Amino acid sequence: MKIYNCFINNKWVKPHSGKWFYSENPANGEEWAKVSDCNSEDVNDAVKAAKDAFYEGEWSMISAAQRGRYLHRIGEVVTKYADRLGKVETKDNGKLPKNITPSLRQGQWLVDSWHYYGGMCDKFEGKLIPSEATNIHNYMHWEPYGVVAQILPWNSPLGTLFWKLAPCLAAGNTVVLKPSEHASCSILELMEILIEAELPPGVINVVTGYGKSVGEPLIEHKDVRMVSFTGGTSGGRAVASIASKQTKPIVMELGGKSPQIILPDADIDLAVNGVVSGIFPAGGQSCISGSRILIHKSIFKEVTKKLLTISKKAVVGDPLDPKTHIGPIANKNHYENILKNISKATEDGCEIILDGRTHKKDKGYFVGPTIFSNVPNSSFLAQNEIFGPVISTEPWEDESEVIKKANDTIYGLAAGIWTKDTIKGMRLANRIESGTVYINNYFNAATQSPVGGYKQSGYGRENGWEGMRCFMQTKSVWLSTKPSEPDPFL
Ligand code: NAD
Repeated sequence: MKIYNCFINNKWVKPHSGKWFYSENPANGEEWAKVSDCNSEDVNDAVKAAKDAFYEGEWSMISAAQRGRYLHRIGEVVTKYADRLGKVETKDNGKLPKNITPSLRQGQWLVDSWHYYGGMCDKFEGKLIPSEATNIHNYMHWEPYGVVAQILPWNSPLGTLFWKLAPCLAAGNTVVLKPSEHASCSILELMEILIEAELPPGVINVVTGYGKSVGEPLIEHKDVRMVSFTGGTSGGRAVASIASKQTKPIVMELGGKSPQIILPDADIDLAVNGVVSGIFPAGGQSCISGSRILIHKSIFKEVTKKLLTISKKAVVGDPLDPKTHIGPIANKNHYENILKNISKATEDGCEIILDGRTHKKDKGYFVGPTIFSNVPNSSFLAQNEIFGPVISTEPWEDESEVIKKANDTIYGLAAGIWTKDTIKGMRLANRIESGTVYINNYFNAATQSPVGGYKQSGYGRENGWEGMRCFMQTKSVWLSTKPSEPDPFL
């Protein structure tokens, strides 16, 4: 069995508690690795390492261009070990290899974060700001925060990490990471391979464990200057309330309940394939999954029929089998939650027309595509993030009404619009309250393009220029070249 300790100051150290917890492979229920059950003492050690690296270590001395060279090196090492990292993530959370490993190879969108921000390190220019006063010069430049805590979810550990870690280091911060207790192993495996990138000690540290025993002391630590969090909206609320006690800045990437609006003139095959791809292949375990399908009444029957035909073809099973389309639910706890939510929806009277529970197996945690029909937007099912392979459909007639409906949840992460009239699509996109809108496609993302939430789906942005800006603060410096200053009391 693989044993992962905590990673502090470029060294593997045993947790103070002397305890480890198991990682279970969700495809077969087997425990295959042990992960450190850290506590606040480990958090203190990790924050001290990051603080020393920031204020006194090599990281504080090097130029922005040199930081960029480190980031490029990380990108190369990730590519070199893409298969190894992908295999660990599949074992840890059941994600299909084809949905991880290719994106870690050179030129692909995930590994690109390291090269994009590696190039951006020395391009964050300050400015000289014109002022009314003569002989007074005001300039602004960018500075990092210092030690940043980064807290991660289980659904896409490497993906969610790269989007925040690359810009955070590019900005000059040092980091303490807390992966999810349900999927820590690919992050820890990454630390093993990063030894080859020869980062100075203390720049990246990892403590593993639970929200209460590790996450909370990390956010509360007085030397942590900023928090970057990806997780559920309720976890985000808890994190924000702790951080607010020290008015700590936070970037929040939270949950969603994203609508897919199908207009009467849509290319129906394009829309149906897009809707299905926008949720089921990842088992619905993606923050931007389009789970509320709002279909124009005139095409409701036809779209429903096609949704059923395609969804029934999905092969649900072992993520290592190349024939598999949908792998397991990432952990037992979440699997049981999804089943509970499906039962609740049926008890609430929602009509189930495809029941993914029939994909249950003797071992592992499997749920197939599940479709509820004619679900009112006000229902529990339409309002709550299930984070599983579950969609609800609802017919609509009036365009203004459907936009109101699309916006009528606490979330605002993503939305899809399907129409042949692209000008109309653009006009509707402007009325959607979400950080990302897709017109006639879904699920695209790029390192260059900012992502984030409206409303309770979060604040701050990842990716693009904004993604790095979030990890920096401005300093305004006033410089006088006046030869003398009048006595104010003369
Ligand atoms: P979660 O909120 O339960 O946990 C996320 C992380 O927060 C974990 O590491 C957990 O240990 C930690 N945590 C929980 N409570 C805490 C507390 N009180 N103090 C400090 N840390 C705490 O989320 P999850 O179940 O791991 O992930 C699934 C959720 O993440 C979904 O809602 C999904 O939509 C969201 N997500 C959002 C994005 C995005 O970019 N918006 C991306 C991926 C996942």
